[in-house]
Amino acid sequence: MNHNKIFFGARLHLAGWYAGVMGIILTLSGVCIYQVMAHAHWQAVDRELESVAGTLHDSLEPLLIESDRISPSVQQILPNLCVIAEKCDRESSTRHILGAIQQESFYALFLNRSGTLIATVGEPPMGIVPQIGQDAWQTIEDREGNRYHQISLLLKNNSGKAWGYLQVGRSLADYDHHLEQSKLILIVSLPIAFLIVSIASWYLAGFAMQPVYNSYRQIQQFTADAAHELRTPLAAIRATAESALSSNSELESRDILQTINRQTIRLSQLVQDLLLLSRMDLQLIPSQKQPCCANEIVSDLVEEVAALAIQAEVKLTLKVISDAPLYVTGNEEQLYRLVLNVLINAIDYTPAQGKVEVFLNRLDRYAIIQIQDTGIGIDSIDLPHIFDRFYRVSSDRSRKKGGSGLGLAIAMAIAKTHGGDIQVKSELGEGSTFTIKIPLLSHGLSHTNL
Ligand code: ADP
Repeated sequence: MNHNKIFFGARLHLAGWYAGVMGIILTLSGVCIYQVMAHAHWQAVDRELESVAGTLHDSLEPLLIESDRISPSVQQILPNLCVIAEKCDRESSTRHILGAIQQESFYALFLNRSGTLIATVGEPPMGIVPQIGQDAWQTIEDREGNRYHQISLLLKNNSGKAWGYLQVGRSLADYDHHLEQSKLILIVSLPIAFLIVSIASWYLAGFAMQPVYNSYRQIQQFTADAAHELRTPLAAIRATAESALSSNSELESRDILQTINRQTIRLSQLVQDLLLLSRMDLQLIPSQKQPCCANEIVSDLVEEVAALAIQAEVKLTLKVISDAPLYVTGNEEQLYRLVLNVLINAIDYTPAQGKVEVFLNRLDRYAIIQIQDTGIGIDSIDLPHIFDRFYRVSSDRSRKKGGSGLGLAIAMAIAKTHGGDIQVKSELGEGSTFTIKIPLLSHGLSHTNL
């Protein structure tokens, strides 16, 4: 396929489109997955902060007495609390009762009612003046670019009056690190996935185009074969006509004209066969389907070719196994042609003293016509091709018998258009059996209804 410019271009085009569309889908999916993941992670951060801040808030409020002042009992449950006005020793104790903010990334800030920082717990962002904004949630960034997320809550003392503010926050370093890693994985994996998709697209486009390419090759082959077949009788006619022109004898001219006539008949038969095949391919033949009696077709044809069989010294017999006449629906002329092509082959390819037996039987909903000969047989290599157009096992022998290699192709095309089939079994030197299967007219229909 790749040697053919048109098909190579079409394959490239198809693969390109496929890879492009898949690339867009992959990129969009990657971006969506990243966004969903970032959102879920952010929600988890919020929930965690909310829970820690809520626990602190609820535990501290009953211990707060005087507004804007840290009471000793708060220092007891938060031993690592650092009061700005006092000297605090961060190293003295790292454990506290409210273990939720024991994690390194968390911190808590205590602000008085005017928003001034009065105490801290943990490692708050450096160089940032805490502010009470309108929004409870804040995301802030220090001078080094480290991000923090925090929530501000109003604290009341044990008598229900406003005490000040509590800000609980956490570093977003692990969150940002996680997202960076995910982004990196996506950036690396997307081109790899795109490469894999491109390779797969190339092969898939090849698979998809293979049947089209095969049909194209068949048409090319068919055209070449048809041209070849037409050339032979045309060349013969031309040569004969040229010799007729140079001949003076009337007798010789008559012979020459007869030869031309024979070649013309062969030529027109070939053209008719080709026309029939292409019309059947295009389903242009009007379906003049009628009930046809398979018994009549078979016995008529056996009678018709009896003289040919006698001439070839071949014993021709007919055995009708079915009791009742078998009716099939179809084009009678075509059905005659179908059986005739197979029957003539059987006689043609059976040497003198051989036998050709025709059986008519019924199997399930099919009329079965079996044509069995003791002829030359067909090699197993040729067997799968004998229904191909212009295929001849031995072209010399076939040509001598006037065959063009279209007989079985026509028979098969007729069988297929009638919903049937032809099967063949053959052994070289032993003979062949062609089994023609045509669906019966209708289940339980007998000749009396027709
Ligand atoms: P042709 O017109 O050459 O007979 P067909 O399409 O009818 O072409 O048959 C294709 C080929 O199949 C023939 O060339 C012949 O070699 C082989 N063939 C068909 N029928 C028989 C048979 N009964 N016995 C042996 N060979 C056969």
